[in-house]
Formats: sequence, C-alpha cells, structure tokens
Amino acid sequence: MNTRDTPIEFLKGVGPQRAELLRSELGVRTVGDLVRHYPFRHIDRSKFYPISEVDPNAALVQIKGKFMRLDSIGAKRATRMVGAFQDGQGNIMEVVWFRSITWIKQTIKPDVEYVLFGKPSIFNGKLQMTHPEIEPASEFDKPLKGGLEGVYPTTEKLKARKLDSRAIRKLMQAALPMAMSGVQETLPAYMLKRQSLLSNTEALQGIHFPENTEQLKRAERTLKFEELFYVQMRLLRVRSLREQNIKGLVFEAVGEHFNTFYKEHLPFPLTGAQKRVIKEIRKDIGSGQQMNRLLQGDVGSGKTIVALLCALIAIDNGYQATIMAPTEILAQQHYESLFELLINMNLNVALLTGSSKAAYRKKLHASLESGEINLLIGTHALLEDKVKFHNLGLVVIDEQHRFGVAQRSKLWKKNTRPPHILVMTATPIPRTLAMTVYGDLDVSVIDEMPPGRKPIKTVHRFDSARLQVFGFMKEEIKKGRQIYVVYPLIEESEKMDYKDLMDGYESICRAFPQPEYQVAIVHGKMKSEDKDFEMKRFADGQCQLMVATTVIEVGVNVPNASVMVIESAERFGLSQLHQLRGRVGRGAEQSFCILMTGNKLSNEARTRMNTMVETNDGFRISEVDLKLRGPGDIMGTQQSGALDFHIADLIKDSELLEAARQEAEYIYDNDPKLEHPTLAIVLQRLTLIMKRMPNWARIS
Ligand code: ADP
Ligand code: MG
Repeated sequence: MNTRDTPIEFLKGVGPQRAELLRSELGVRTVGDLVRHYPFRHIDRSKFYPISEVDPNAALVQIKGKFMRLDSIGAKRATRMVGAFQDGQGNIMEVVWFRSITWIKQTIKPDVEYVLFGKPSIFNGKLQMTHPEIEPASEFDKPLKGGLEGVYPTTEKLKARKLDSRAIRKLMQAALPMAMSGVQETLPAYMLKRQSLLSNTEALQGIHFPENTEQLKRAERTLKFEELFYVQMRLLRVRSLREQNIKGLVFEAVGEHFNTFYKEHLPFPLTGAQKRVIKEIRKDIGSGQQMNRLLQGDVGSGKTIVALLCALIAIDNGYQATIMAPTEILAQQHYESLFELLINMNLNVALLTGSSKAAYRKKLHASLESGEINLLIGTHALLEDKVKFHNLGLVVIDEQHRFGVAQRSKLWKKNTRPPHILVMTATPIPRTLAMTVYGDLDVSVIDEMPPGRKPIKTVHRFDSARLQVFGFMKEEIKKGRQIYVVYPLIEESEKMDYKDLMDGYESICRAFPQPEYQVAIVHGKMKSEDKDFEMKRFADGQCQLMVATTVIEVGVNVPNASVMVIESAERFGLSQLHQLRGRVGRGAEQSFCILMTGNKLSNEARTRMNTMVETNDGFRISEVDLKLRGPGDIMGTQQSGALDFHIADLIKDSELLEAARQEAEYIYDNDPKLEHPTLAIVLQRLTLIMKRMPNWARIS
C-alpha cells in the first residue's frame, strides 16, 4: 500500500477520536489527505519585534523577553493573570490570561527568556497581548521554527479537541516524511520541466515548512498548477468519454427550410459574428459527434436568430427542435417572434408553459409525439415526462445559467440518441470561469452587436435628484419613448429603507397622472394572465411606463422602450444591472439607463455604479463582478461544487489556469486514452478524482 493511503488514525498523535473529527471537519481521511491540507498563510517567525515598534493593529507578532512580574487580579470568576513582559530594550508590555491560570503560574519562571507569539492590542491605552503562544527561547531556537510558519485552517470543533493550527502543524511534521516515502509524483516529468514546477515532495515540503518566501512561492505555484490541471483533465475527460460513447445525430444537409428562410424571410443581414457562430454549429452537428456548445453573447447581440437557423437545419434533416426559456414571459415572447418569422414557412410551431390548459396540452402531446410539431418553445414544463417527442434532434436552452444540470440532463433523454445541445447565455462569463465550469463544452461567442445600435448612455443619480429624473422621463415620453422603472422587491420590508414596488408604483402614478400617462405593472406574484395582459399593454405601446421587478430582466424585447430607470440600484449585482440595462437600446433611438441610489453607498456599491456608467461591455462587467463577488456567487450554488479549490484562485491564477488547460489539451490531442507510460500517474490520479466526483459532473 502507498504510505499516503495510511488511514489518518495511525498517524502519531491522532488516534480514533481525532481521526473521526479530522474526517468530519476537514474531510481528511488519510495521511495523503492531511498533507494536502495547506496553510492559508505564513508568518515570518525569524523576526522578533521590539515592544516599542509593535503596531497594535498588526495581525500577529513575535517578541522575545522575560516576565518581570506575574499577578493574579480579581476574585473567583473574574480572576485573571497579568504579567509584565519586558524585552531586551527594557520596554514593557502587559500579557493577560483569563484561562489556564494555574498552569501559567506553575509554568512561567522568572529570569527565563521566552518567545511570545500573538495578536497585540491596546487596552486602557497600554499595549497588551492576551493568551499568546509562549515558549522558552531556548527551545524556540530549534531549526524549522526559524523560517516561515504555516497557519492552518481549523474549526471550533477541532480547536475544542486541541487541534488548532499549531497542533495541525505538529501532525504535519509527522505526516510529511510518511507522505514522501516511495514514488509520489503527481505530474509527469516532462510537464514539470516545461512548466518549471517543483516535484510534488519538494512542493509539499515548501508549502508546509518553507525556509524562505522564494521556496514558498515556487511550492504554491506547483500545487496550484497541479490542482488546476486536474480540474481541466477531468472536464476534458468528460468530453472525451462523451465523444467515445455517444454517437451524435448527423445533420448533413442544409435543406429547403433553411434556404428558403435565409433567402426570403430573414429580416436583416446577419452580423459577421452570427455567421461565424452558425458555421461553428454546423460543423458540430454534421460531424457525427453530439454537439454540446455554449453560445455566449451579450444582451441584444442576436442569439435568437442563431437558435432559429439551427432549428431549421434540424427540421431539414427530419428532426424536431425545442427551445427552452427560463420564464413564461420569455417563452411567450420567443414563441410570438418566431411564429411571426416563420409565418410563411409552412412549419408547426407550438408553445408549452406551466399555464398551458389541459385540453391544449393533450392535443399538443399527441402532435408532438406524432412528429407534427416541428418546433416547440417552452419553459420547464417541457421537461415533464409526459412530454414526448417523435424525434428530437436539437435542444436550445436559453439563459442556461438559470437551469440546473439535472434539468438539462432530462432533455438529453428525450430522444433515444441524445439530441444536439446548444446552451445560450447573455451573462458573459469570464474566460477563466467558463473554462472551469463549462470546460467540457465548446464555446462560441457573438462579439459583435447588430449594426445601427447607439450605445446606451448610463448615469448614476441620487434619490435626491428624483424630480429632475422625472422631468427627463417626461421629455422622453413626449418624444414617443417608453420607460421601464424597476424595483428590487415586491413587498414592503420594515427594516430596510428602500422603496418597494407598490410605493414606487403609487408615486409614479402620482407623478405621471392619467389620462395623459398610462402605467403598467408587472411582478412575480401576479397571475400569469395578468402579467401577460400588462406586458402586452406595454409592448403594444398603450402604456408609456412599465413599473416592474426583475421579472422583466431576462430577454424581454420592446424596441420602443428606451429608458431604464433602476431604483435602489445599489441592491442589485453587476450582472443583474447589466441584464436590466439590456432591456433598452434595442431600437434605433438613443437609450438611457438611470441608476437611482441612496446617498450613502458602500465602496463596493460605488464600484458597481461606476462600472455600469463606464462601460457597456458585458465581458468587462463580468470580470469586475467576478472580482467583487467571487466565482461561487456568480455561478450560483448549482455549479459551485466545481469551484471548490484547495489552493488555486480563479481570479489571481488565471495565467496558471491557461497553462494547465493547454497541458491538458495537449494530452487529449495526442493520447486521448492516456495510454503512454509517462501518463500512468495522471491516469491513476484522474480515475481516483472521477470516482470521488458526484455524478452530475458528467453531464453539462
Ligand atoms: P439576445 O442575444 O439578447 O437574445 P435577440 O436575439 O433578442 O438578442 O436580438 C435582439 C434584437 O436584435 C432583436 O430585435 C433582433 O431582431 C435584432 N437583431 C438580431 N440580429 C440582428 C442583425 N444581424 N441585424 C439587425 N438586428 C438584429
Ligand atoms: Mg435572448
């Protein structure tokens, strides 16, 4: 057995009880797991501070000196021990203990030099330290302690069992030699050389017990690379297994429907980016492999027409196609606009949502199963088992980040051979994140807006400027424009001082009185008929204003609406703000986005507002968003499991990630089954990782 596989219980100083805790708290089961429990920072223990130079705000400092006095103060429960600690320069600092008093009394001797290590603070104007780590200076001088000391993540439960950072460090001293015996490389030699990495044992030594910063840096780089590399290997493995095991439907022909539509009914020339993406997709679906492609394109970049053209290719090849949208409003809109585009095409397009009536459904189910329906547009409702296709060849998932993996995998099963999958998103994901979360998908990007669009002008206004904003809105309405006013909430919350939708609706109605103005309202708690009714009033131009919550965030298309007012904008995340802004700027007129906020803003909120004002570029915005919120929050909990890194950081380590991806691709390009002997260690480790991964990682 590999010594790294030794159960942690058998490590010196552990035993069954601590072993159980290490497992439940840190997921550490073996010696090998323990050595992968890395310090989250390092403290320079080579340095002793003179008391006169200690910054009371410093995190941790180390001081050498002697105890001049040791007094116990107060009675009973309030008893504490106070020591006067003097350094070599004669300066004095107070040291305080509230616990372990007896032990302190017995242990600390006068005239013995000690090293204290702890967090300084100021109390009653005096520098002090409570419960420092304390050690006789004679013992401290041992090697290993002179350099950088790792601080380990730990938990309250572990600390209660005396497994604090120091104790873990001690375990590490025992574990590391065990982990280093035998052959332990995790990356092939050629890769270490090419990427100038340390060997695994050197890296472990360097992260746990570095002698200097240089060594620590190299160790970190190696371990980060290794982690990122195996994530990429896993993703590419998923793709490679899919390619080996799944035969894709072959759509060879671009037939009559596509051609007729393209020549006669296309309402506008495609942009270069749209054409390029369609080419990429055509290559996929003609290749014999199942397509799994992510289409990224900013709001308004024209993804819908791409989806439609692909659907036509599927239909030309004798298959059905479906488009799934995350909300009813969006599904409805897709249905209406596609229905109109296809009106002279002699094709059957149908809509299925949660509110489709039973009788209609029944008919629909039948005509779907008979193959009569060519294109089905819908919401989650089309995932139901009752919904069966005759021969589903293409699935388009719009705004895919709203759907979970389980839901998508259901669509796979709607045909005996999995259909081609095109997922579309208007939330641009930074490349590093896309590579990690969707690394097993092919990615296409529409990076060009349809011609003639004027960039949206975005401004930030404080609530105190509301009257001016209303004045501006009235001018725009006079020019024939329509306006969205969006609120973050639909119910009044007692504690918070932001406006809620109903209040806002009333004040808008007051400021924009009938009969001159008509105001529509839409929010998530309305019945869908009412929502539709209000949406329609707005879309038809019967209302000048639409007061809404974020239900209008996704996909809604009213080209004449040219002003987006976002209330309490500080309460929205960046990508949400960008999505909302994307509701305007769809027509030929100059559009505006007005971000309303309170006067007091956190730094982060200010960054969000400034970013919105400065740029319309969704990718730039998503980069900033990633930095502000971190990857987990951006992807939501659905995918955050894929973002659990031990040591790597997707934001800071993007260059390493690129390098790791390239190395992984190099392997799959040259030896997809990992058969070459140099790759044996990679295969072994990868197999282990795949075993530990939950199932959902296999389907994207
Ligand atoms: P999104 O990518 O946000 O889903 P849509 O597909 O809804 O964008 O397209 C936004 C608008 O741009 C629609 O009104 C659509 O008709 C229009 N559009 C799309 N492509 C073009 C193009 N090549 N030229 C002109 N207008 C286009
Ligand atoms: Mg869209």
